[in-house]
Amino acid sequence: MKKIYLITFLILPVALCAQNNKNWLIKTGKLFDSETAQFKTGLDILVKDGRIEDVKPDVDITADQRKQYTLIDLSNSTVLPGLIDAHTHLLYREGNSGNGPNTSTIALERHLTMDGDAYRALYGAARAKGYLEAGITSVQDLGNSGMYGDIALRKAIADRLLPGPNMSCAGPGLAAAGAQMPGLLAGDQHLVDGEYRIVSGVDDAVQAVREHVNQTVNVIKIYADNRPNRTFLSVEEMRAIVNEAHRYHLRVTAHATVDESIKNAVLAGVDCIEHGYNVSDSTLMLMASHKVMLVPTDGDKSGLVTFFMTTMKDTTGMDARVTRNRKYYIDRLQRALKFGVTIAYGSDDYAESKLPFGEPSKHNLIGYTEAGVPIPQVLQIATRNSARQLNWGKYLGIIKKGYLPDIIAVDNSIDKDIHAIMDVKFVMKGGVVYVNK
Ligand SMILES: [Zn+2]
Repeated sequence: MKKIYLITFLILPVALCAQNNKNWLIKTGKLFDSETAQFKTGLDILVKDGRIEDVKPDVDITADQRKQYTLIDLSNSTVLPGLIDAHTHLLYREGNSGNGPNTSTIALERHLTMDGDAYRALYGAARAKGYLEAGITSVQDLGNSGMYGDIALRKAIADRLLPGPNMSCAGPGLAAAGAQMPGLLAGDQHLVDGEYRIVSGVDDAVQAVREHVNQTVNVIKIYADNRPNRTFLSVEEMRAIVNEAHRYHLRVTAHATVDESIKNAVLAGVDCIEHGYNVSDSTLMLMASHKVMLVPTDGDKSGLVTFFMTTMKDTTGMDARVTRNRKYYIDRLQRALKFGVTIAYGSDDYAESKLPFGEPSKHNLIGYTEAGVPIPQVLQIATRNSARQLNWGKYLGIIKKGYLPDIIAVDNSIDKDIHAIMDVKFVMKGGVVYVNK
């Protein structure tokens, strides 16, 4: 506890001073160019009025410029665009409910009937701060935040009431009857409406999108399947959702875990598949040809061990289970890359892990390297690709002229060891410094 207070104390004054000065000259040791996936040396970044004014070699600061720009010396570090987690649930916590099939139902029931929106908002606020300080400067929050709790958190962050990442919000996900709350009695089905937007038929699908547009969502999240619940949206319902969402220039991303629902979602025209665990080669080829992205929320080996240890009562055969699980995810990611599917980084981080907020999310980047993806490609996935998935690719995810100054710094060993991403030394979001160790 003491440690956390100390870090907070050190960070706050910097953030407060920073808000008064928006012009910076940032000296970098190495700079990761996420467009070309290359590390470059000898580049400085000029930040002016909340935008990247320029990125050029060795800016010599004159006495005159010194009045305009404040120097930040990161010449001993590697500078990257802020990380972008395209699949979060900041207001959802799944605790230790045992090995039962209805673990998520119990966690959701608890949120809806015992925690309530006020607690969830405060929990989400604490996590938002943790994510930002871990170097995750933008997230796409994909439901499980009650009735638009994500939108309220986005507003509080934008109003500078609390520190947090830029948020692209989905509101309650659109799903078929029962959604992701298996095992609820018929008389208790109304609880589902507190967490999901249940869609019944094509007309209702269009109406659901319009309701979300009115609540200012940034993206439409659908559940192509509800496993272990047996219901799933029809291709016609998903197509109606996609057509209506695209009229408002909103992307549609589909939770889909089995091959049939993944294929149906792709045929309906969605822009991205979340998870995509059990996907066939032919569906991956279909995704590539339709330019449908994949967000593999796979974690890594050590994260998976932590997850099993904290969420399961029976941990016998843990090693074999983790190895089997990882092999399955790794095979799917490698096949997706082989067939030319574009990957974005997403964590689906919601489990109570006892790790600092934001840390479980970054384990996914270690997981991608465990699958053999080279570090520069992993960092490109976590920045430029994710920015595109959030529909923010024209101003986030790359450190270049005109883009928003969301910038982080890590140890120079990052080009050889992805674990350097776990210790972020510097965080700037929108030209404001939040961490400067
Ligand atoms: Zn999720």
